[in-house]
Amino acid sequence: MAECKECGIPLMPDEEYYLEDRCECCERMWHERISDWREGHHDPGLDAGEFEAMPRIH
Ligand SMILES: [Zn+2]
Repeated sequence: MAECKECGIPLMPDEEYYLEDRCECCERMWHERISDWREGHHDPGLDAGEFEAMPRIH
């Protein structure tokens, strides 16, 4: 069974299907990070291209 790549907990089958490699909690945190960043907050990882490296988020 797949595990969340952020926190390592086993993923539920539907989390694995919809979110691929993150649990729902980490996915929500990731989206909050993206939205803060888009509003102008600096985030070293995202500034360095981490967002572009995520092809499944458009
Ligand atoms: Zn997680």
